[in-house]
Amino acid sequence: MSDNFFRLNLIDGEWQASAAGQWFDKAEPATGERLCQVTASTPADVDAAVAAARRQFDGGAWSQLPGAARGRLLNRLADLLEAKAEDFAQLLAREQGRALMEMRMLDVPMAIDTLRYFAGWADKLEGRQIPTAGFMGRPTFNYTVREAVGVAALIVPWNAPLMIGAWKLGPALAAGCTVVVKPSEDAPLALSALAALAAEAGFPPGVINVVQGLGPAVGRALTTHPGVDKISFTGSTVVGRQIAAEAGPLFKRLTLELGGKAPQIILEDAVLEQAIGGCAMGLFVDQGQTCAAGTRILVHRSRYEAVLQALAGAARSLQLGDPFNPATQMGALISERHAQRVRSHIDAARQAGAQMLAGDEAVPERGFFVRPTIFGGVTPDMAIAREEVFGPVGVVIPFDSDDEAVALANDSAYGLSATLWTQNLTKAHSLAARLKVGAVAINGWSPLDARLPWGGGKDSGVGRDLSRAALDGYLEEKVVTVVM
Ligand code: NDP
Repeated sequence: MSDNFFRLNLIDGEWQASAAGQWFDKAEPATGERLCQVTASTPADVDAAVAAARRQFDGGAWSQLPGAARGRLLNRLADLLEAKAEDFAQLLAREQGRALMEMRMLDVPMAIDTLRYFAGWADKLEGRQIPTAGFMGRPTFNYTVREAVGVAALIVPWNAPLMIGAWKLGPALAAGCTVVVKPSEDAPLALSALAALAAEAGFPPGVINVVQGLGPAVGRALTTHPGVDKISFTGSTVVGRQIAAEAGPLFKRLTLELGGKAPQIILEDAVLEQAIGGCAMGLFVDQGQTCAAGTRILVHRSRYEAVLQALAGAARSLQLGDPFNPATQMGALISERHAQRVRSHIDAARQAGAQMLAGDEAVPERGFFVRPTIFGGVTPDMAIAREEVFGPVGVVIPFDSDDEAVALANDSAYGLSATLWTQNLTKAHSLAARLKVGAVAINGWSPLDARLPWGGGKDSGVGRDLSRAALDGYLEEKVVTVVM
């Protein structure tokens, strides 16, 4: 699986390079060395992929398959993925530079579970029978059917390509859509491998197409394509806003899962040992490259100094290095470009007067590493407390009252998720109700699950991934009325 040096497009069941003949390199984050070459597609490749998806949707073999058959295919794909779980974990660790342990514990099992969860929905897309008072004196019989929206463009980021790919493929295919997947240029491998497994599982050619390439060329050609009915995008707020501006007037269905700057609130009565371990996990998993990263740690002033020192100690103790070394606790960032972006946030915070308590220790000589970094002495107006860094960088800010904690937490452009640490469950529920986010975790960091909706408001996007809510995003409800 990982010895194939070239990464191609999958269009109508055929692996093919773009006719344009351009390629780009994908580097291995932990070493900086070239891992593979990827075909750089053009709008012509997007046209071909959308046409293949359209043919299957508009009367192809896929369109004739009952839901139960779609569910069986998804279950078969999940079984094949499970059988190759270790291969995928290793491929992901190489592609992303993340510790192998995280792939084994989080990304691969969640991808399998997500495919199975949505497989179960495929034959349960029931409509409703709705009574009315009739029409012009005649009784009516009214029912609804739920139909797939059509061809879905699935634009996947680099921070968890297999897992987020499954979050999108599962509901799209269960609903009966056909898809064109655009992997990130920084993570082209895992999704190619998953598409190859889907072919082995028996999905008809053209149901799942993959177009590799650069975002502005391939992604934009997809999101503005007249043959695309639905867009599910996970990535930056900047690109999400651009997609909304361009696809909105075309009335495409949109799910946008964008950035975050999640608060982790430690109340006065929190069990500190539990809160500090949980906060460190929420901050440092995937090197902080997650939309849910709990990067704003808001602490009751009575515990501020203890939490600041403990988190700094936890950051300093993390072992960075080779993702395949069992002792490694944190891997590399996705690319040198991204590592520089994170370093520039750190430099700007220092210049603004924030106090760096951890983060200037040595990093491995090769690869795109950034040390886990903790800042104290941060005021809520500083850029480091407001902008998404998407790296292992946390700020610790004190508060004096619950009201102030809620105000600080909500004082953000983002509204994806938050974490609360307290022993007082009454208070936890009342504060959870006041937080303007899509998900609140109490005494644990955002436990993602296929059955729970995932997404936010404000600059964090619109719509939901996962759960029944994600499925609804790929379906239209049609009403049929018989005037009797
Ligand atoms: P982008 O938003 O640029 O990329 C996300 C996905 O969108 C990738 O597949 C990308 O392809 C594609 N894309 C890029 N431009 C367009 C476009 N014009 N139209 C359609 N699709 C496009 O994120 P970056 O990789 O540049 O990361 C930058 C920042 O975005 C991060 O620092 C972080 O703040 C945020 N981010 C948030 C994520 C989340 O989980 N919410 C995930 C990833 C990033 P390609 O990679 O080929 O450019």
